Amino acid sequence: MIARKLGPLDAEVPVIGLGTWQMEDDDEADVVRAVHRAIELGATHVDTAEMYGSGRVEQILGKALAGKRDRVFLASKVLPRNAERDAVIRACERSLRRLDTDHLDLYVLHWRGSGVPLAETFGAFEALRASGKIRAWGVSNFDVSDLAEAVGVAGPGKIACNQVLYHLGDRTIEHDVIPWCERHQIAVVAYSPFGSAGGFPSRSSPGGKALADVGKPLGATARQVALAYLTRRAFAIPKASRVEHVAENTAAAAITLDEVAIARLDRAFPRGPWRGLPTL
Ligand code: NAP
Repeated sequence: MIARKLGPLDAEVPVIGLGTWQMEDDDEADVVRAVHRAIELGATHVDTAEMYGSGRVEQILGKALAGKRDRVFLASKVLPRNAERDAVIRACERSLRRLDTDHLDLYVLHWRGSGVPLAETFGAFEALRASGKIRAWGVSNFDVSDLAEAVGVAGPGKIACNQVLYHLGDRTIEHDVIPWCERHQIAVVAYSPFGSAGGFPSRSSPGGKALADVGKPLGATARQVALAYLTRRAFAIPKASRVEHVAENTAAAAITLDEVAIARLDRAFPRGPWRGLPTL
């Protein structure tokens, strides 16, 4: 699995990881098998959140990661309603208990709420880092104005990532979020890389045909082509609770798209004008 430094961190993180949103609705044994397969195949960036299943997904992961914790780059997210200093610390400790671990590799503000100054949340993240409960922290769903404010508050080199919506049907972060993050050494982590459940282009659609055409000479599936496109400038965390999906997604890291392939995909999935990030 190809790995890159994630933002300012020394840690090398695989470009394709594993998302876990809505895994509480999947068969638990399937989820455990999927997590184990992801680790075997090197997709060791596991992304979760206190929000997912109201803590249930963290609990399932805690079981799945027993005896394997040190092989995983484990990320979780705190809800904006817990963004006050003491609430962040308590939320993190609850996540650690559910995940049955003593530290997170990455802790992320899930989205920007209103009312709590960023300085307060970031101060709590730094306190958690100093106490060894988290190794690094980041943000999610931040646009450029939020990012500029965040770096102004935190200083350079503190914010490890910005986790944002990025798939072929929504390339809006290419306008300014990705370039801004690249200039400031903040990793872009692409969520919903397939457009979430049911969001991937069908085979008969123009986009589906372009993905098939590009994939054919490479022996790659449509989803592998999509992941190869996105991971040129971002880490991707596709959610998959089926082992065959994990294997297919992970293998995408070995695929390189040439300029002709990229141009074909750019035509089939035009970036369009800036449309803003999703409001959560
Ligand atoms: P996604 O990864 O775009 O798509 C997941 C869907 O694709 C699932 O239904 C999955 O099915 C299916 N799938 C995966 N691999 C497949 C394959 N090879 N072939 C066919 N189907 C496949 O959706 P997402 O869950 O919205 O996003 C990924 C992760 O990003 C989340 O799980 C979460 O960790 C994170 N996220 C973060 C935010 C945020 O605000 N920060 C928001 C949304 C998501 P199976 O499960 O059946 O395998």
